[in-house]
Amino acid sequence: MPRYADVIIDISHEQLDKSFQYIIPEGLKGQIDVGSEVSVPFGRSNRMINGYVIGLSDVAQFDESKLKAIEGVPPKGMAIESRLIRLAAWIKENCGSTMIQALKTVLPVKKKIEEKVKKTIIPAVTKEELIRYLEEFTAKKNVARVRLLSELMEEESLDYDLVKTKLKISPQTLKGLEEKGIIKVESRIVRRNPVREKQGEGYNLTLNASQQAIADDISSDTERPDAYLIHGITGSGKTEVYMELIDRTIEEGKQTIMLIPEIALTYQTVKRFYKRFGDRVSIMNSRLSQGERYDQFEKAKTGETDIIIGPRSALFTPFPNLGLIIIDEEHESSYKSETVPRYHARDVAIALGKMCDAKVVLGSATPTVESFYAASKGRFKLYTMTERATGGELADTHVVDMRQELRNGNKSIISNKLRDLITDRLDKKEQIMLFINRRGYESFVSCRACGKAVKCPHCDVALTEHGGGKLVCHYCGYEEPFDRTCKFCGSHYVAGFKAGTQKIEKLVKEQFPKARVLRMDADTTSAKDGHEKILAAFADKEADILIGTQMIVKGHDFSNVTLVGILAADLSLYAANYMSGERTFQLLTQAAGRAGRGLLSGEVVIQTYSPDNYAIIAAANQDYESFYDSEIMFRQLMEYPPVNSMLLILISSLDEDKAKKGAGLLADTAAKSLGAKVIGPADAPISRVKDMYKQVVYVKGDNRQTLVDVKNYCEETVKNSAVFADCSIIYDFNPISFF
Ligand code: ADP
Ligand code: ZN
Ligand code: ZN
Repeated sequence: MPRYADVIIDISHEQLDKSFQYIIPEGLKGQIDVGSEVSVPFGRSNRMINGYVIGLSDVAQFDESKLKAIEGVPPKGMAIESRLIRLAAWIKENCGSTMIQALKTVLPVKKKIEEKVKKTIIPAVTKEELIRYLEEFTAKKNVARVRLLSELMEEESLDYDLVKTKLKISPQTLKGLEEKGIIKVESRIVRRNPVREKQGEGYNLTLNASQQAIADDISSDTERPDAYLIHGITGSGKTEVYMELIDRTIEEGKQTIMLIPEIALTYQTVKRFYKRFGDRVSIMNSRLSQGERYDQFEKAKTGETDIIIGPRSALFTPFPNLGLIIIDEEHESSYKSETVPRYHARDVAIALGKMCDAKVVLGSATPTVESFYAASKGRFKLYTMTERATGGELADTHVVDMRQELRNGNKSIISNKLRDLITDRLDKKEQIMLFINRRGYESFVSCRACGKAVKCPHCDVALTEHGGGKLVCHYCGYEEPFDRTCKFCGSHYVAGFKAGTQKIEKLVKEQFPKARVLRMDADTTSAKDGHEKILAAFADKEADILIGTQMIVKGHDFSNVTLVGILAADLSLYAANYMSGERTFQLLTQAAGRAGRGLLSGEVVIQTYSPDNYAIIAAANQDYESFYDSEIMFRQLMEYPPVNSMLLILISSLDEDKAKKGAGLLADTAAKSLGAKVIGPADAPISRVKDMYKQVVYVKGDNRQTLVDVKNYCEETVKNSAVFADCSIIYDFNPISFF
């Protein structure tokens, strides 16, 4: 039983790092945990105030005689803040961060932003009196007062700001009139609402049998798996199922958090929800100001809204009675935080769901191997939707072997097949999307003749090209010289693969001079709403061809797109990471899902140097299960997640020597833990960024808890060794980005 508690007094300001230690009195032992609301004596006067417990310990920070004791636990039910603090504690322990970092992640911090107040001016006297004053001021030639009172004769109330700016009446004048009791200035708080859209004319869509069955099953289920996973092809009607579930949750008097990838947060999607739920919905995006975010959270807390839609940080919306958490497109990598704490929204949603007794629903056309594995083990309950809700066929897919193109003398990045189909669509005035798979656009090398990439003999991931003619494995540090001659087929075509969207745009314009081309990538979308503007222009048929990175895979439905070309499927296939097959399958399947969304049927061309690769074959056949079966065998064999768990420890320092020493020490610490297997240390892929030296240590463990223990041991090592004074350490569980 811990004897002391760290109590934080004020959580609505930024100083979350200020906590105070209190004694837990005998009578309260067992009642106090992290997150508990407590009342404590504070300050010299020992006035009683409420605070929250953020940590427990057996060690007094000061002389025990100087510590005060917790007075009691307030009787009312568990405050929303308590729940968030408990969630922060969970994140700290399971995702690796300090308590302060975790608190800053979950608590809506009020950054001393004034609430926006709308002031209006109304008359404080009767109309007759107003006329009398008007005559008096006219006689006195008090022009400003006359101007104002004349306006007030016409309008019942005037906007304070407009009176100042448009009627040019000074605050002093207004104050004078207010003091005389002629006018009144009223203030009311206006919540900032970033999206304004009126509720539409009722919603009258009837769920089909498969949608109805899923909605019924989830809402009546009492077995409570960790999550419900809806595996439904694009357009199968998952969103309608979510909306039905939200509706039922509202009927129970509970609230919903719905996560969607930021990039899918388009006007189209948002409108659909407003149409059905009106202003009970609020929308969050990462561009909201602190003030806007705070307002959203206040509205949630006070019951003004029932639904929040947003990216992963919407998980921390303080709803009083959360009933449902939905994660749409659950395979999206944006659900993983890339800043400390590096939490995954799915894991946090499940933890949160357990804390508030809320159901967690995941949906995707290409579920993560992790979620599908959880379903196969019975931790998630799986539903499958195989038909498009509006009918229509999936696109026809062609796989083009780029090795053969090379043998036939076509050195262009566009195969003959794709060229012919583009010409055909341009003639028919149908639209085309060309997709370049830029993710994992690191610097792997592969053979143009046989398609094989050079891989690490220990880790089975692609090696990465480094300066000095070396190929390096970023898991274990294995190196070999970069050899232009292929060790599989003897050709001399081993090379890095470099092709950006700009280069492709130029090429396409040369080859199809009459086509109107739009390009969408990080450069062309950096402006506000840039991404949406390009998509809208394409939807309005202002261009024939849209060239883009994985960004173009999401969002709009383009009914006139009948051809999707995937230019270099291999770019993600040989990313230096164990998830490269999964990523490739997801991207190809999602991209293919773009073709033929309307009445016209579509075709997809996948260009690859590895036409025999299981991920490519399965994507071409839109066959998730055969992909999964092969992929899970590879993960099993190589002991990668989800079969095993993996922890990345990243050590950075200005001092190369210290980074290396630190990495060595942590590797040793990890190696001593039961059930843990250490790989490395190795240089991080970009081992020197802005003069920082980075080292990585990967640890595999048979389950997550083993690795949480490893992290805790490492934290001890860091505390106790001087080497780490000049190092910073980041923990990342089941990492998905590899720097
Ligand atoms: P998903 O979320 O799986 O991609 P959506 O819910 O967006 O699918 O549905 C795809 C399209 O089918 C939408 O235009 C939607 O309005 C329509 N749709 C979905 N369910 C039905 C239904 N039961 N009846 C008629 N149209 C439907
Ligand atoms: Zn070869
Ligand atoms: Zn290796």
